[in-house]
Amino acid sequence: MEIRDVSKRFGTTTVLDQVNLTLAPGTVTAIIGPSGAGKSTLLRTINHLERADEGFISIDDELIGYERDGNVLYELKEGAIRRRRSAVGMVFQNFNLFPHLTVVENIIEAPVSVQGIPRAEAIGTALDLLARIGLSDKADAYPRHLSGGQQQRVAIARALALRPKVLLFDEPTSALDPELVGEVLDVIKELADSGTTLVIVTHEIGFAREIADTVVFMESGKVVEVAPPAKLFSDPAHPRTRAFLAKVL
Ligand code: ADP
Ligand code: MG
Repeated sequence: MEIRDVSKRFGTTTVLDQVNLTLAPGTVTAIIGPSGAGKSTLLRTINHLERADEGFISIDDELIGYERDGNVLYELKEGAIRRRRSAVGMVFQNFNLFPHLTVVENIIEAPVSVQGIPRAEAIGTALDLLARIGLSDKADAYPRHLSGGQQQRVAIARALALRPKVLLFDEPTSALDPELVGEVLDVIKELADSGTTLVIVTHEIGFAREIADTVVFMESGKVVEVAPPAKLFSDPAHPRTRAFLAKVL
């Protein structure tokens, strides 16, 4: 995935300021930085929940994002946009499961309605994913009957069901009770080990150090520093990175 010169403003506030990043297939990128840095907005822009004002985003050389002025993407038909969007999956802090659907219905909803996958096939895939995250016995449960950690694992399965090329996580464990964090991190770690391309906004510095190939430090809408974890956490090049790490480590 290529993110090139992406900028985003809310009114007169610049929330993303000429962001550039390249993610190689199969790599894990952790994004860290203070609250308000623009981390969530960056993920939301990649996933088309926000529209960038400038720049573009592409995956495998196929444009999924924006272009200055005569914007290519928005000339596409709605269906084409939805298909391209499904190249990117997203897992939110608060799980965002559909409360009125069972676990299996949550997982098959988008594959059936967006990707047109036959229902029986989508159910088969959903059951395989539930086995992988250790929740086979919850297929017919409603979200309210699951713990936060279980709901988040279902949200991960739901994102995977679309077979995204890139999976985005926005602080996936920060709404969880401490004793439930580990089970979600274990699922993410398994995905990382299996070669899924991941982008994770996280406050879990130890986790980022363990699984990330690349760590991105953002502040005030800018990418300040990009480096492997061993470098960024031990010997950051930028004084802003150093100041941030001094507070959180
Ligand atoms: P982070 O995830 O790093 O904490 P965010 O991307 O959520 O940061 O927010 C970056 C900045 O953008 C903040 O100043 C926030 O108040 C602002 N912001 C985010 N979403 C909106 C919005 N929908 N309207 C106006 N301002 C927003
Ligand atoms: Mg955020």
